[in-house]
Amino acid sequence: MNITRNILITGGAGFIGSHVVRLFVNAYPEYHIINLDKLTYAGNLVNLKDVENQPNYTFVKADICDFDKMLEIFKQYHIDGVIHLAAESHVDRSIKDPFTFAHTNVMGTLSLLQAAKLTWEALPECYEGKRFYHISTDEVYGALEFDGTFFTEETKYQPHSPYSASKAGSDHFVRAFHDTYGMPTIVTNCSNNYGPYQFPEKLIPLFINNIRQGKPLPVYGKGENVRDWLYVVDHARAIDLIFHNGKTADTYNIGGFNEWTNIDLIKVIIKTVDRLLGNPEGTSDHLITYVTDRKGHDLRYAIDSNKLKNELGWEPSLQFEEGIEKTVRWYLDNQEWMDNVTSGAYQKYYESMYKNR
Ligand code: NAD
Repeated sequence: MNITRNILITGGAGFIGSHVVRLFVNAYPEYHIINLDKLTYAGNLVNLKDVENQPNYTFVKADICDFDKMLEIFKQYHIDGVIHLAAESHVDRSIKDPFTFAHTNVMGTLSLLQAAKLTWEALPECYEGKRFYHISTDEVYGALEFDGTFFTEETKYQPHSPYSASKAGSDHFVRAFHDTYGMPTIVTNCSNNYGPYQFPEKLIPLFINNIRQGKPLPVYGKGENVRDWLYVVDHARAIDLIFHNGKTADTYNIGGFNEWTNIDLIKVIIKTVDRLLGNPEGTSDHLITYVTDRKGHDLRYAIDSNKLKNELGWEPSLQFEEGIEKTVRWYLDNQEWMDNVTSGAYQKYYESMYKNR
């Protein structure tokens, strides 16, 4: 098979990145997919076991903040497309350690942009046939009231947490590289994702794991905050569509029109886990434990993804009930994955494999 494109996917060992890598490796055997990941606590190559031996897949362990290395990779692999997901992604961690978030999310993105710019501008065709696609979050828009409004692509940026501030900073740099140098960039802002392979510090896998182990389920404040939830494979499908057909320099919001208060979501998870474990309904209800609210906790996020639907025909493929059932079932069927990820066992294994390369 002749390789027609060399696509760098950053953060491909993480939650969303692993679904994007899997989709691209399987759907496009004519593309060479280079998965670049630092393998932080959130990155696990075991998430990609099913594609690691495919001939069109290469893994590179590297830090996006290492500019010289990024330059080397762009040249070595003749990269002509970037799908950039690598980031520090957990809001609670950003509250404790904002520097790491600014470093990875802002400086790391800048380092990739600059490596792309220097490499592509040195080529005779320059930016022709190139694309730098940056994956971002709806959290850059700030928070909504309970008033039925939505974030649109025109909503002004008003990030509140160090995580969302760092993502907003990276979004601005990406757009600046288009406006200043003419780089063919694209940015998407997506709502909360759920599904298999999510590191179990995030709400849904954490709660499934805790219910399984009979541990408390910590609920911030009164559990009234609202989030829009999208099945991760539908996000990956949107990324595929936008990478190929999205308008250069444009922004698309991606969301599920699927709002849930945290407490209602938690009740659905409890009910589903109990049912799938064969427990009588209500068995795990007592695990709900209200804790002090997160600092600066945004009240409500809701995405208007009509532009993506109208322009590119994308819609979520799964109803939430179906997606949550699939997700709970996956975590219950993959308890070994969960235990190994939480104990760091996979990470140690892969570190030993890559140490001498
Ligand atoms: P994740 O934390 O599961 O994965 C992040 C990946 O990036 C990990 O594999 C990690 O090893 C890697 N990484 C971190 N720092 C790196 C560095 N310096 N160099 C190279 N690799 C590094 O995150 P996720 O939930 O999969 O999110 C992926 C992207 O999507 C992020 O940019 C995030 O902001 C964005 N996003 C996430 C959500 C969500 O609900 N999870 C929603 C919207 C947007």
